[in-house]
Amino acid sequence: MDGTDGRDDIVVAEAEVAGQLRLAETFFNHSVSCLVILDPDYNFVRVNAAYARACHRTVDEFAGKNHFELFPSDTKLIFDDVLRTRKPFVTFTRSFEFADQPERGITYWDWTLVPVLGAAGEIEYLVFSLVEVTERKRAEEALRIAALVYQHSSEAMMVTNVGNDVIAINPAFTKLTGYNPADIIGKNPQVLKSGKQAPEFYEEMWQSLNETGHWHGELWDVSKNGDAIAFRLTINSVYDEGGAVVQRVAQFSDVTEQKLADKLIWEQANIDMLTRLPNRHMFLNRLQEKMDAATRGGDMLVLLLVDLDQFKEINDAWGHSKGDILLVEAARRISACVGPAVTVARLGGDEFGVLLCGTQKTATVDQLAGELIAALVAPYDLGVAQGFVSASIGIAQFPAEGKTREELLSHVDQAMNAAKAGGRNRYRHFTSSLQAAVQSRLSMTNDLRLALVGNQFDVYYQPIITLASGRIDKAEALIRWRHPTRGLVGPDEFIALAEASGLILEIGQWVFRQAAEQVARQHTLERNSFQISVNVSPMQFRNDARLTDAWLSTLADLNLPMQSIVIEITEGLLLDLSPEVTDKLLAFCNAGAQVALDDFGTGYSSLAYLKKFDIDYIKIDRAFVYQLETDPNDRALCEAIIVMAHKLGLKVIAEGVETAAQRDFLKSANCDFAQGYLYSRPVAAPQFELLLREDHARS
Ligand code: C2E
Ligand code: CA
Ligand code: CA
Repeated sequence: MDGTDGRDDIVVAEAEVAGQLRLAETFFNHSVSCLVILDPDYNFVRVNAAYARACHRTVDEFAGKNHFELFPSDTKLIFDDVLRTRKPFVTFTRSFEFADQPERGITYWDWTLVPVLGAAGEIEYLVFSLVEVTERKRAEEALRIAALVYQHSSEAMMVTNVGNDVIAINPAFTKLTGYNPADIIGKNPQVLKSGKQAPEFYEEMWQSLNETGHWHGELWDVSKNGDAIAFRLTINSVYDEGGAVVQRVAQFSDVTEQKLADKLIWEQANIDMLTRLPNRHMFLNRLQEKMDAATRGGDMLVLLLVDLDQFKEINDAWGHSKGDILLVEAARRISACVGPAVTVARLGGDEFGVLLCGTQKTATVDQLAGELIAALVAPYDLGVAQGFVSASIGIAQFPAEGKTREELLSHVDQAMNAAKAGGRNRYRHFTSSLQAAVQSRLSMTNDLRLALVGNQFDVYYQPIITLASGRIDKAEALIRWRHPTRGLVGPDEFIALAEASGLILEIGQWVFRQAAEQVARQHTLERNSFQISVNVSPMQFRNDARLTDAWLSTLADLNLPMQSIVIEITEGLLLDLSPEVTDKLLAFCNAGAQVALDDFGTGYSSLAYLKKFDIDYIKIDRAFVYQLETDPNDRALCEAIIVMAHKLGLKVIAEGVETAAQRDFLKSANCDFAQGYLYSRPVAAPQFELLLREDHARS
């Protein structure tokens, strides 16, 4: 081989080197990895196109630049370490934001550093490759956050596979349902089923899931320990690339408390908490619904209004807790009578509604009303004692006796009031004459408002005779109404209306004033012990705060002693232990005024009250005096009342004395006073004064 051969070898070798260089160059330039060569001072020696592209620059822009002009210097320590230790390579990940390309945001890069040593072992270059991993990093971050959310969410989550087996649950799910992963993973979510939803509910849910991949709704399930829990549930589906469902993700939010609160609110609005019956509100709604349905179906309804009689007395005598016991028992009896299919409601206080749907024979309704009355009149065990009430029932039909709800209710109310007025413990059907009576009461009440200013009232006086002397020492003031068209109207016809309308307060004060003025006239005629008694409505005690003050100041005005007026009250008032009543009564008694207990024998006639309130007189009711001649029982009763009253230091006035025989009996029984037609009817003031003058003249 000569020199030519040697040159050829060189040429070949050069060609080979050139080829390899080209190869390296090609590889460097076309590599998809970003490749960079730095000198030991970190100046750019070469960068490849991929790198320039990744940096959004051109290759030329790197010429003459130092690496740390472009990239953060916090990697410099790593670079320095590589140079110092000459580790064969080092990889790390760094985030980086290009200052001149802020729109790109933070980018992530995986770096691999390789030191390249020269022949003498010195560092010649630092070569590194970079891969931008921003996308991957973001995906990882998103996953990490999703996992965090999943783990820490207060919303319970469950993932099922396509076979509807549970494959994952989060801690909130465990907290909510009590199921640990071990309890439920691999099982069907049906373990939660409460049975509160009908099968159709689940059918619809699956239909929606299959059609839309999505379902949203509320349902009740049961927790591991058996508690009912209400959820708002959202189910979404996860699909593979082919569009097939791979997983379903269920999110549960607990709405149990809200549901329970809703239920409570609903109950408070619709259920009577004492008896657990529907309340008035719900009853009215149901009545309207049934009326609408009956109208559509051409059907009939029957409404019964059941009102307990004398319930107030139970409350007054035994307290409200015993009253409550009675109401609960009454509710139970009514429900038992009518059966579960019939709507029974507590409409208020001691009032119940019963709604019969469908056409009912009158005989059937009457029979039911009779059964209700019989059931309600049986004694009630109140613990301390037996309670007795009866019931008054009004009955009205829809549509015949009321086209609208309000009309029907008003008519059934009228029928119930007629049952009360008819003596209670009975039922009444609504009739058109009832309606007329109501109308007349209404117009009377309206007229009554004008009566005081119109000067239409008059006070009549009925003498009260001292039986021993036969002299008129007292009188009872009895009001009369000169009605402009009806003529003279007695108190039995309008006192109840005056009470219901509140007018009794003014009327009562007016009567008191009239009576006091009459006494004052008699006192000027030297009849200084003359007394007039005035009837006082319980309403006045309950509702007139100034009652006793007004009385006392009237007496003071007229310079009259306290004993000149006697207040007539009924026993019902003494049973009312409310402070409005007892305070006034005591104040009045303590001021030295006198009190008579009217209509004695018709009510409770309990002796305990007599002493408590310092009662001065008992008035034996006309009902006992009336039959004194014929009924030995009434004679015995009158005698007993008189003996008892005297023992208690009370004086006795017999009412309604019409015959001499009655008078004689009462006199022999030591009755103190008598009042009645035998002596005189109630008469207007001028006649009364005449009577007194004659009486005075006789003695
Ligand atoms: P009362 O307090 O029991 O009054 C006695 C009633 O018996 C009076 O009826 C009187 O006229 C009647 N009477 C008296 N003697 C006889 C008799 O011998 N035979 C018969 N059959 N009846 C007799 P009146 O005046 O119609 O009063 C009825 C009721 O109206 C009174 O019953 C009283 O409760 C009430 N009342 C009368 N005036 C007032 C008043 O100013 N205020 C209040 N709140 N009520 C009054
Ligand atoms: Ca009276
Ligand atoms: Ca009386």
